[in-house]
Amino acid sequence: THVAMHSSGFREFLLKPELERVIGDCGFEHPSEVQNECIPQAILGTDVICQAKSGMGKTAVFVLSTLQQIDNTPSGITTLVLCNTRELAYQICDEFDRFTKYLPNVKTAVIYGGIPVQTHKDLIKEKKPNIIIGTPGRILQLASEGALSLKEIKQFILDECDTMLESLDMRKDVQKIFKLIPANKQVMMFSATLSDTIRPICKKFMNNPLEIYINDGSKLTLHGLQQYYVPITEEQKNKKLIELLDSLDFNQSVIFVKSVRRADALNRILQDIGFPSICIHRDLDQKDRIEQYRKFKNFESRIMVATNIFGRGIDIERVNVVINYDMAESADTYLHRVGRAGRFGTKGLAISFVPSKEDPVLEQVQSKFVVSIKELVATPDPSTY
Ligand code: ADP
Ligand code: MG
Repeated sequence: THVAMHSSGFREFLLKPELERVIGDCGFEHPSEVQNECIPQAILGTDVICQAKSGMGKTAVFVLSTLQQIDNTPSGITTLVLCNTRELAYQICDEFDRFTKYLPNVKTAVIYGGIPVQTHKDLIKEKKPNIIIGTPGRILQLASEGALSLKEIKQFILDECDTMLESLDMRKDVQKIFKLIPANKQVMMFSATLSDTIRPICKKFMNNPLEIYINDGSKLTLHGLQQYYVPITEEQKNKKLIELLDSLDFNQSVIFVKSVRRADALNRILQDIGFPSICIHRDLDQKDRIEQYRKFKNFESRIMVATNIFGRGIDIERVNVVINYDMAESADTYLHRVGRAGRFGTKGLAISFVPSKEDPVLEQVQSKFVVSIKELVATPDPSTY
């Protein structure tokens, strides 16, 4: 296992009993390295900017730190978490709900676009949430229309912060939201990838933050993950994919493609020949998107054909095989995608279809993350993933 064990456990953080108890219920035995490094300072209200490997429990860092600091019977909206996709907002909300088991007066709500804004206005009025998780566009809309008060916010959190601030549209929304929040707040930001250019942009939102960066690419590599490439032409991809799905011993698999159209088409092909496949992408309406996510999370379907919207943050324990049917467009995107397998130090397998061994992204991945990706020549031994 790759979980650091140099602490005797979560007890050393001296968290409130309601949290210690739920941590036990969740079966968390030892904090991961990133949890050990961040939680002791984050619970004191320190700003945090943190880059750490996929699947190592960054969510629990901000969930536990927030719940430790929140009044057990809070009033008003004290915490705002922004992230880049609706499915991730939903997942983060589930994580807060899991950890508020013994804090019944702490209420959460998830808010994102694609459903009528009145639904959210009613939700805020009726549920009176204390912790809101959402995507920037809809949050900004509600705040500007006076339906959402940000005046009592004490924690402002960005998950997948690099992608949120790299997209200029999203960055503008984040900045506008930030200005509506009182100055005296804790800001925390997280990602597995934080380039030198994005770090100063993140830090503009912070005061003297605790900074945790992993500069050494090899430290971002998931060591439980077997990585292979297959040199292949477009016409051979379907045949090869089906051969892999037939021969691999997968629990659940995510297959990444580069466009909505290709996701729909590939999903249809897989379903037609009897594979239990579903798909997710931006063009599905909101209800369908969450429905597909739930189905996959609940193991009602074993194959998810997805675009990059499923590439970051999504945590599904049973995913042990990721296939890049279309290679990722950058090394960072690759890292996030393959990180959907091998969560929390478990084993996994990533296979990438590339035009040739000289594929530039394949080369960048290997040099940036100091990993050797081998050509797939035989079916990998199931005991390795
Ligand atoms: P990240 O955001 O760093 O990619 P997540 O927060 O999604 O990772 O966590 C990955 C998985 O690990 C989740 O299912 C989470 O419940 C689990 N997890 C987090 N911390 C621990 C821990 N200390 N012990 C066991 N499992 C953990
Ligand atoms: Mg995460």
